[in-house]
Amino acid sequence: MRARIGAVTLSGESGLRALQTLARTMSLEDFDLDPAQYAVNPKKHAQAALIDIDWEAAQRGLGLPVVRSAGIAVRKDDHEQLRAAMRTPISPGSRRLVSLHSSWLRGPALPVAIAAVRNSDDPLSFVFADLFDPFGGAGAVDGLQYLLAAASAPERPVELLRTDTQAIPFALAGGARGAIGLTSQGRHHPLPFSSKLKKEHDDRQRSAWLWLPELLGWQRGTTLGAIEPFPEIGLADCPCPPCDGEPLSVYAREWPGQVPQKVRERLQDHDADRWMTTFNRLRATSDPLQSWAAACARAVRVEAELVSEYKISALRVPTSIAQWAVETS
Ligand SMILES: [Zn+2]
Repeated sequence: MRARIGAVTLSGESGLRALQTLARTMSLEDFDLDPAQYAVNPKKHAQAALIDIDWEAAQRGLGLPVVRSAGIAVRKDDHEQLRAAMRTPISPGSRRLVSLHSSWLRGPALPVAIAAVRNSDDPLSFVFADLFDPFGGAGAVDGLQYLLAAASAPERPVELLRTDTQAIPFALAGGARGAIGLTSQGRHHPLPFSSKLKKEHDDRQRSAWLWLPELLGWQRGTTLGAIEPFPEIGLADCPCPPCDGEPLSVYAREWPGQVPQKVRERLQDHDADRWMTTFNRLRATSDPLQSWAAACARAVRVEAELVSEYKISALRVPTSIAQWAVETS
């Protein structure tokens, strides 16, 4: 993944252990760590944890290019926690990691979040929390842009970690670092599921999910069978090296339990290749963010055409991507 993308963010205790192992045999240049603690109450969290890790010291010890604080989570409407998240001491040179509930991106909570961000001078790493896509709610994408603009003072790096596709516009807009999750759990700070949603989540594990650049989002493999009879749509084949000329309809099936590791790894290679190809293409244009908005508009048109011309409604542009769509002439 480092060779394919250029930089990789690992997360949590398993990420730290993996980096400690890798450090024995290779340079950790272009690797970094999201401690992913996102504790609501850091003191209590440290007492309750079986192993209390000094995350910042561990990252410095490994010589990582970026050092992040353990991370504090701010729940919906918890103003006191928001202030604490921006004030809790961190070591000089570290980036302040904050997980915000998606509700802070919208309505009257947004100016409160912006004011809190302006009150801190530290470099910031943001993660957003929700059950599913934190940027899917109406106005959330606009809120994200306002918040990041407020945070991006000169000389202050701002990062957006654990995203789905939003890392692409964030990086195009000049963000210090945007990370896309290789697994669905890594695409936001997930909140605990109810048992009904847990079942839905488990059902999803039986299908392959792959990122389609034409729709700027993940599609369920089982929906790809619908496009197979219409090669003229141009979505059935992928030109990326990991797919190696195989039609995408090989993923139009379910597996018992969950998708085998080998298939998942190949899909991750496909996804990463498609993100980077999309990102590099947009970055090379004269106005990358405008090109991104046009690409989102194009994705919305593709979705509408699939419905009107082919009666295929299973392939969708994520709501958070459709919110970026701006038609350009
Ligand atoms: Zn591919």
